[in-house]
Amino acid sequence: MKRSSKPVRQCHACLLNLGKVCWEYANPRRQWRNRRCPGFENPALYNELTEWQAAPHVKTRKQLRQAAGRKRVTPAALRRRAQIVKSTG
Ligand code: SF4
Repeated sequence: MKRSSKPVRQCHACLLNLGKVCWEYANPRRQWRNRRCPGFENPALYNELTEWQAAPHVKTRKQLRQAAGRKRVTPAALRRRAQIVKSTG
């Protein structure tokens, strides 16, 4: 059996389907072996997913770096702001 973490066609309507991976199972194809995935329309798992999505996440180093870069004021940005202030006021 092909081992892949990618959800299969039957996972289309499942909330646990995150596009490239299944939130719960490492091998979605294997879950559908008996014509019914145990996670499909499973209210307990759906609740767990909702709680997980609502919980605050630890930012990765890349996300922290990107956030710092967005806050940084460059000389070009300062000039643009000054031009905007001149033109409006
Ligand atoms: S829980 Fe089952 S139906 Fe839902 S995405 Fe995972 S493998 Fe597919």
